[in-house]
Amino acid sequence: METNAYRVLLYYKYVPIEDPVTFAQEHLAACKELGLKGRILVSDEGINGTCSGTIEQTDAYMNMMKADERFADMVYKIDETEGHAFKKMHVRPKKEIVHLGLADDINPNEITGQYLSPKEFFEQMQAEDTVVIDARNDYEFDLGHFRGAIRPEIRNFRDLPDWMLENKEMFEGKKVLTYCTGGIRCEKFSGWLVREGFEGVGQLHGGIATYAKDPEVRGQLWDGQMYVFDERIAVPINQVEHVVVGKDHFTGEPCERYVNCANPDCNDKILCSEENEHKYLRSCSDECREHPRNRYIVEHKLSEEEVEVRLAAIK
Ligand SMILES: [Zn+2]
Repeated sequence: METNAYRVLLYYKYVPIEDPVTFAQEHLAACKELGLKGRILVSDEGINGTCSGTIEQTDAYMNMMKADERFADMVYKIDETEGHAFKKMHVRPKKEIVHLGLADDINPNEITGQYLSPKEFFEQMQAEDTVVIDARNDYEFDLGHFRGAIRPEIRNFRDLPDWMLENKEMFEGKKVLTYCTGGIRCEKFSGWLVREGFEGVGQLHGGIATYAKDPEVRGQLWDGQMYVFDERIAVPINQVEHVVVGKDHFTGEPCERYVNCANPDCNDKILCSEENEHKYLRSCSDECREHPRNRYIVEHKLSEEEVEVRLAAIK
């Protein structure tokens, strides 16, 4: 008998859902009944989910969704894993399933960029007149991204439209390709690009998760790993070569290990080795290291004297 026959599902669909609050309650009950764990967002514009379970549990979930005509054609990215990738099951009603920070919202069923298959994306991103934009958060980019892709100078995806408008001259006469983890963020973002008059807007259909599994492309031109929003944190994409692009926050050495800053008010994701995690008290800055509620100091029961000695060692 296999003991590691678990799967992680990643999926979304832009489709009208009436009364998302009631839907979320009922969906949560159904997911718990099936024994799934994960995080699902629902709004009147659709569903955005990722959850884990055994093969039987995840099959039962997909069958349940197929029986509902709204979700019958929903596409699932499926990863095999050892055990659950989440601790709990949440289904949350939201205003939007993806927050793009735009006053008037984009409906991807009405306007969106051209869908590109992994093979098309692979070919087009190498063309000279093409700019590739990473439509994710900075910490996701820092762990891994397409070779040559632009990392917008933003902290959050919702700040991306403003950044694009401020840097519009960078894209003049160029085709603009976008990508994200599973494709959901690009649906809206590329629709917005089309509406704002950007040219040749294309999006990686199914996102990086689909690109990784394409038997022909095999994840090529992806450097590093892909950040995922479950307990795995990092997953491999490029099946041909593995180039590490992540850099240790403290030393700049190649690193693909994320921790959260021990200052609870900061909680920033920082790439660092285990050695540096201890050396720097898992804190991104002096300010965070000296925070009165520093979680590293609490967890390791460091006395004031010990903290002083550690701080002096890195000054
Ligand atoms: Zn910090």
